[in-house]
Amino acid sequence: MKILVINAGSSSLKFKLFKMLDESVICSGLMQEIGKEEASVSFKHDDQELKKLMSIKDYNEALCILFDLIFEEGLLVDINELYAVGHRVVHGGDVFSKATQINGEVVSRLKEFIPLAPLHNPANISGILAVKQRSDTIRQVAVFDTAFHQSIPEHAFRYALESSLFFEGKIRRYGFHGSSHKYVLAQACKLLKQDEKETNIISLHLGNGASACAIQAGQSIDTSMGMTPLEGLVMGTRSGDIDPGIIFYLHEHKGYSLEKIETILEKESGLFGLCGENDMRTIIKKAKAGNKYQLAIDIFVYRIKKYIGSYFAILERVDALVFTGGIGENSSEIRSLIIEGLKGLGISYDVHKNREMIKNKFSFHKEKSEIKLFVIATDEELEIALQTKEALDE
Ligand code: ADP
Repeated sequence: MKILVINAGSSSLKFKLFKMLDESVICSGLMQEIGKEEASVSFKHDDQELKKLMSIKDYNEALCILFDLIFEEGLLVDINELYAVGHRVVHGGDVFSKATQINGEVVSRLKEFIPLAPLHNPANISGILAVKQRSDTIRQVAVFDTAFHQSIPEHAFRYALESSLFFEGKIRRYGFHGSSHKYVLAQACKLLKQDEKETNIISLHLGNGASACAIQAGQSIDTSMGMTPLEGLVMGTRSGDIDPGIIFYLHEHKGYSLEKIETILEKESGLFGLCGENDMRTIIKKAKAGNKYQLAIDIFVYRIKKYIGSYFAILERVDALVFTGGIGENSSEIRSLIIEGLKGLGISYDVHKNREMIKNKFSFHKEKSEIKLFVIATDEELEIALQTKEALDE
């Protein structure tokens, strides 16, 4: 059984073809700058990587190129050999609480959510339609970034705003990175040898985008990203939490247009805003006591600690703290700064195990630590493939 996973971004398309029997990757790759004359294509299989620059007009053409490569390499003979295609869809609003087989009605609902994810949902829909054009009979499944968080209770997903903004305007917390938090939960349960229904964890996805999630009895009960992925932790270029009054101040007193403010908050803030770099590796290298790089790290870490503290307060018991995402998986320095001083919460870590960096999955708590500490490499594409299969098996 083979499942193709497609993750279409605003001008990019990431893909992975899985053999579901052993969950291995048959081929994977990335197309960037779709819509331009010099789009880049990278295609990996069997330890070989093909890279080229070519004109890719749109998602339809991108999909044609992808299938041509797959056929040329003999990885599939016919598109209908695929069990299904699973699509990452960023926003499923308050309608989709699990992966869903795509039909005309689902596509119409996805279009309704375009205002909630204006960069991503149109690309996701284009990817779905491009596959449909290639084969009308192939089964397609939408796997939503927001779905895992549909279990968040109303007192946590509502903002304290006038009610019609929620009832008519759909303004509420939706949360993102759902496939990642769900994937690491399943892996953490394997390490804990516990059923998901009995497991409470705090999951920290720390990449360019970053979010924390409080998981109780296997369900998300709160997360740091909100109506959009802008809220919460300090990210590569996104501000995370700010006083909303800042927006009015910049608009009214500094004359900034709303468009400029959006660019500032989305693309020029976070680590980049604080020190001019958004790559944590560079920031760590340049950090010295008292300089701007060290301050960026301090602010990044401080915000995460605040979320950990608040999630301890809402979870009755915490079994494990899980680190994932590029920074969470790879930076023992950042992990140790986050955990430093959390002894009062029952957390103590083993300095050596933290630095060991075993591939994919390891623990680094001290034996006596009440709370287990795990590093788990996330695999959003595999999670999408697994959820695609599950949605069709139901
Ligand atoms: P995205 O959200 O774009 O998927 P990733 O999860 O790949 O991002 O995370 C990217 C971040 O991870 C970057 O800030 C990068 O510097 C950081 N990162 C990757 N490897 C390391 C490392 N060894 N030490 C510190 N940070 C790292």
